[in-house]
Amino acid sequence: MSRQEREILAIGAGPGNLGLAVALEELAPKELAGDTLIVEQHDNVLWQRGMLLPWTQSQVSFLKDLVTLRNPCSRFSFISYLHSVGRLDEFVNLGSFLPYRMEISGYLSWVCGSLRHVRVEFGHRCVSVALREAHDGRVTGWLVRFADGGEIVCRTLVIGAGRDANVPVEFALLPRRRVIHSTEFAARVAEFDPDPPRRVVVIGGAQSAAEMLWTAHQRFPRAHCAIVMRSIGLNNYQSSKFTNELFYPSFVDEFYSARPEARDQLLREMHRTNYSGLAPQLLDALYREMYLERLTGTERLQMVTMTDVTDAAMDGEEVVLTLVDRKSGRVRQLRCDVVLLGTGFVNRMPKLVRDLAAAVGVDEVTVDRNYRMSLPDWVAADCYLQGVNEATHGIADSLLSVLAMRASEIVSDLLARRHPPGPHQPGSQQPAPATAGALEP
Ligand SMILES: Cc1cc2nc3c(=O)[nH]c(=O)nc-3n(C[C@H](O)[C@H](O)[C@H](O)COP(=O)(O)OP(=O)(O)OC[C@H]3O[C@@H](n4cnc5c(N)ncnc54)[C@H](O)[C@@H]3O)c2cc1C
Repeated sequence: MSRQEREILAIGAGPGNLGLAVALEELAPKELAGDTLIVEQHDNVLWQRGMLLPWTQSQVSFLKDLVTLRNPCSRFSFISYLHSVGRLDEFVNLGSFLPYRMEISGYLSWVCGSLRHVRVEFGHRCVSVALREAHDGRVTGWLVRFADGGEIVCRTLVIGAGRDANVPVEFALLPRRRVIHSTEFAARVAEFDPDPPRRVVVIGGAQSAAEMLWTAHQRFPRAHCAIVMRSIGLNNYQSSKFTNELFYPSFVDEFYSARPEARDQLLREMHRTNYSGLAPQLLDALYREMYLERLTGTERLQMVTMTDVTDAAMDGEEVVLTLVDRKSGRVRQLRCDVVLLGTGFVNRMPKLVRDLAAAVGVDEVTVDRNYRMSLPDWVAADCYLQGVNEATHGIADSLLSVLAMRASEIVSDLLARRHPPGPHQPGSQQPAPATAGALEP
């Protein structure tokens, strides 16, 4: 990639920015969509590539795709995708609202290939964002640098690069071949020879940890697989049709305008609808497997609950974990061959965003209702953040649930800022937002 100039640059070809691309194609002038580039670090579009295991399902309805909640007539819907690949009959017959993860992934890739105006380039990892300054010192754009030496200058940046993997400091010094975070699991576990006996320890007590435990157990028939967690035991996700209403895109307004203590309560009470829980089928499968193993005296699965890992070190070719039992305070060692980290994601803004904020002298990153980062007056360039605004926009912000509507809110905002009505024009108080649901000609 050499140096390019674009009006809009979106980093990451995940659901967030692909949803934005769809909204731009449907709602924005062609020349703006045509001057938009999405840049992805990998060579293709895959959804949750680290945990793209064949048997795993999405946890939200297929109707919460990139567009349907905003524009049910769109050619970019999940149903259009199924129709175009000849699987609509079978999907209907399956009678499920929850597609397999690999179907969502196939859908995202299909959307990417169906874009007519927005361009997507692969194999470019963004490494930094600097300021492009005009002669008067005002910042008029962003200078985005890539690992391959390429550079792109843009006026509007949209960061939809997901969250940073959380690798707790205790595991940071283990050699790479001995520790796998869930974001790399699918590819790296496939490199292991399944036959030899080995000891696997999974860290964490939520869905990704349990999926890795189950996969290791099934894939390595002679492995002993333990899972170590701080909590009292594995739990199902909490779900209720009443609280599921808090995932509606329309709830974002209520959350955004709520008082701080109410936001805290909402996030606290909703926590186990999305985090620290398991899908009921997986929980059941694990429990039945453990039951059967006890019955037949072939125990390969082990749950270690209420336990902290305080250290991880190598002793020859073995990993030695130091465990502290929270009930008794007793310290013991657990030796293993490989550690799988189901430790989730860092609970703060991604490093790329924090670095950008530091470059413009902003200590605490905040976004407005339309996901536009609050920047000093002397910055005449915009930056939108997707998928990292749970604290201000609610628990659904990192999920598929809201992103069709979020994309149109971002497009409306950037259209309004692109052509602000002049002070003497009629309707100058009312920027003309793009109409949700408008179809391209
Ligand atoms: C295992 C797992 C399962 C999930 N299941 C569900 C589910 O069932 N339903 C649901 O609603 N949500 C689910 N989620 C939440 C998930 O975050 C969202 O579904 C969705 O993927 C968020 O989209 P995104 O575009 O914001 O981020 P991501 O999907 O993370 O996409 C970010 C993209 O940016 C790219 N990128 C990152 N850094 C750079 C860089 N520096 N330069 C260039 N490209 C970069 C990445 O390669 C990636 O393609 C799940 C999350 C995980 C981890």
